[in-house]
Amino acid sequence: MRRMAPIHDQVASNIPVANQKESNFLKVKQAAQEARKAEARKSSYSNYSSSSNIAKTEDQYSNGVAASVWEAYIGENRENRYRNWLIHTLRKHGAKRVLDVACGTGVDSRMLVDAGFSMTSCDLSDKMLAVAKETKQRKNIKDWDIRQADWVFLTETLEKDGVLPGFDAVICMGNSFAHLPNEMTIDGVTYKNCHERAISNFRKMLRPGGILIIDHRNFDYIVKHQKSPSKNVYYQSSWPTDVDTTFDRNGDGAVTKIKLHYTMTVPLEVQRKTKMDLDESHNKITFDLTYFPHYLSTFEQLLRRVFNYEQDDETAPLQVCGDFQAEVVDPAYFIHVVTKERTAETCER
Ligand code: SAH
Repeated sequence: MRRMAPIHDQVASNIPVANQKESNFLKVKQAAQEARKAEARKSSYSNYSSSSNIAKTEDQYSNGVAASVWEAYIGENRENRYRNWLIHTLRKHGAKRVLDVACGTGVDSRMLVDAGFSMTSCDLSDKMLAVAKETKQRKNIKDWDIRQADWVFLTETLEKDGVLPGFDAVICMGNSFAHLPNEMTIDGVTYKNCHERAISNFRKMLRPGGILIIDHRNFDYIVKHQKSPSKNVYYQSSWPTDVDTTFDRNGDGAVTKIKLHYTMTVPLEVQRKTKMDLDESHNKITFDLTYFPHYLSTFEQLLRRVFNYEQDDETAPLQVCGDFQAEVVDPAYFIHVVTKERTAETCER
């Protein structure tokens, strides 16, 4: 494993250096405080109970730390360019019923409900979903159905919950798909080709003629330059965030995994709003996220395979843009739009 430069804009951390005499005492106190906070987070999000008991992919958001600051960090609303592109693309394809398969705390879903779409949202993480559910309740948002489901078992889980295929669009945004390993073992059972399996599940949830909108970071750039492009149209945060990045490589030197260790300085007003008590940890929280990089060409090949389009068919209904623009150099994100063929078996499961 090699340690590389951060892939996010970085602001140097300024943790005050504890006086040597106090440091042990401080450590013990901090550990106790962390444990208390973890308990508090657990209870504040415990009102969500899982609707399914089938095997699940590892939930990277399970300790609730990222969930507790997600929206304060990324901003409650998307930038106009993101919002306008997404709404325009959905409308252009005649979409009304939309399934957000990586809703997280619900930023995109809420935005689409406001724009008049009928939304069903799901996610793996009960902590992220708890925030979405709490917002739905607090803002009394109608026409927003929120479920828990893992992409690898998506169709059977949703079906059990009474959510049937036939959506006009499926969206999977926020670099979420890169969280999924291609192979994993759950309860002693090994699941291979999870990427194909998940995309195939997204496709099954669409009506013929429906579209999948799915994004990933520009990993071609990240792996080549060992940092991310400086722009970011996704997140509007100006929080001091230090991201320590490590790249795992296989024997051939190819990057197999990118691990991000976030240290965020949480502004005081956010601490107050979210009722955090971080004084003794110097206003900082930390969490880790792991990504499995997708490259532009191989990701498009994957989409073509699953959606049954020849690799060299130039007329196939697949589009890709960078940062929601037709022509852009070194975008931070690629966003793919692929249409499910109309000639498909109409009720395919
Ligand atoms: N789209 C949201 C959330 C991004 S965070 C936004 O942009 O704000 C990534 C989300 O993907 C997390 O909420 C995580 O729980 C979800 N996720 C990761 N793996 C998943 C899986 N296998 N099935 C369903 N959701 C998954």
